This record gives sequence, C-alpha cells and structure tokens, in this order.
Amino acid sequence: MRTSHHTLLPIAILLFIALAVMPATAFYNPNTGRWLNRDPIEEEDGPNVSLCAHNNLINRIDPFGLWTTGVHHKIIDDWLVDPIWDRYPWRCCERIPVRRLLKEGSDQIDGVGNHSGDFFAAQATQNAHQHAMRSPGDDVSVAEAKYRQFIQNTLNEARRLSDRARQLTCTYAPESLVYSAVTKIGNAFHAISDNMSPAHSGFQLWSGSWEPTTVTDHVRQENMTAYPTYKLQLVSTVDGELLSYLNYVLAIQVR
Ligand SMILES: [Zn+2]
Repeated sequence: MRTSHHTLLPIAILLFIALAVMPATAFYNPNTGRWLNRDPIEEEDGPNVSLCAHNNLINRIDPFGLWTTGVHHKIIDDWLVDPIWDRYPWRCCERIPVRRLLKEGSDQIDGVGNHSGDFFAAQATQNAHQHAMRSPGDDVSVAEAKYRQFIQNTLNEARRLSDRARQLTCTYAPESLVYSAVTKIGNAFHAISDNMSPAHSGFQLWSGSWEPTTVTDHVRQENMTAYPTYKLQLVSTVDGELLSYLNYVLAIQVR
C-alpha cells in the first residue's frame, strides 16, 4: 500500500520540530544501566527468542538513525574545537567556515535544515546505507559494503574538488570548490557518526514505514544522555577517519 506525501508531511513537520528542540536519543534501559543494542543477525535467526518483539519495536521506532541533528552538530564542535575552523584561512584571503560546511553536509544526508525539502528522498530506503542501515532486500554485508563505498566516494570527490580548486586562479573563485569539498566530507561524517550510535549498530532494516505513533515514540525516547557516554569514541574515530581528508582539502599547495 502506498502512503501519500499528503499524509506524511505533517509527520515530517512534527519530526523536524521535535528533532530541533529535543536532544539525542538512545535506547537506554535505566533498570540495567545498559544500552539496548541491535542484534546484527536477523531476528528470525537470533538465539534469544524473548527479545524478538522488543527488537522489532526498536527497529520500528528508529527510522532516522540515532543521533538528532543537534548531536551530529555537537560532535563536529567537539571534534574541531579551535575557533580557527570557523574561518580557516585559504588562498585568495578567503575564510572557510569549515564547521558550518561539515554540518551542512551532515544535514544534507538527513534531509534536514536547508535540505528539509529533500527529507523523504534523503530518508528513502535506498539511502539506508548513508545512515548505516540497510534497505529491504539487502543483507547486512551488502548494506555495509554500500556504506563503505558511499564514504569512499564522497571522500574521493572531496579530494577531486580540492585538486581542481588549487589549479584555478583566484579570479575563478576556487574557494567555492573547497566549500563543496568540505561539505562532501560532511556527508561522510554523517554516515560514520550514524554508524557509531548505540541504537544504530548492525545495519538494521529501514523499511521506509512512517507511522505517527512510531515517530512520536521515537521522538519521546530521544535524550542527550547518549552523547556524553560516546563522545570520546566518536570524536577520536571521526578524527582518525576524516582529519587527513580535511587537511588535504584545505591545503593550499598542490601535493
Ligand atoms: Zn542519518
């Protein structure tokens, strides 16, 4: 059965508001003091039958990836703490707003912020791998391969854009290519950070189902308590995966 965008739009609007004002989610069980992690193997094969219903429930209420927009942005701020990243000096006396562009690239993958018009396209099942999830028909290994390919493609594109920028004289405003390159790194950042969220592991299925109750359930469970627990690991992983690309893109000399 198809659901029209007509009925989905109010849900999306509700979600945007909720994501904007509410901190991040995680599926934390206060009784055990543990995070509820997804089983990477499928429910039907899972040895723990009693968890099936629970895992299904979590799958249903986690269509967006774990981190809210606010947490994605916070990771960037905690990663690149020096204010220089807001006005990174580049050729032609340009100042590159690196942090803002990375956030822009992250928002683009989620279809939020300036990209909210593309929300449904961004969150479509065929883009599940961009949020470290899998689309129907893909198994976990296929989804993971797509995820890695997506990251590599965006980073390769970032390098290509910056190589072109270095070859242009300032008359051609090469900094716009550097802007695009940093935004591409923001695309990769999004996937990497989604993959590291505690409720997002295992490339679980994203069925594309938008039900008002599941959306509000999801939003209600979101809270910022997840982030501090994972902050150090997130920041060091993102730094390890992306800093060399950032340095490459922002370099002035052709290497
Ligand atoms: Zn996402």
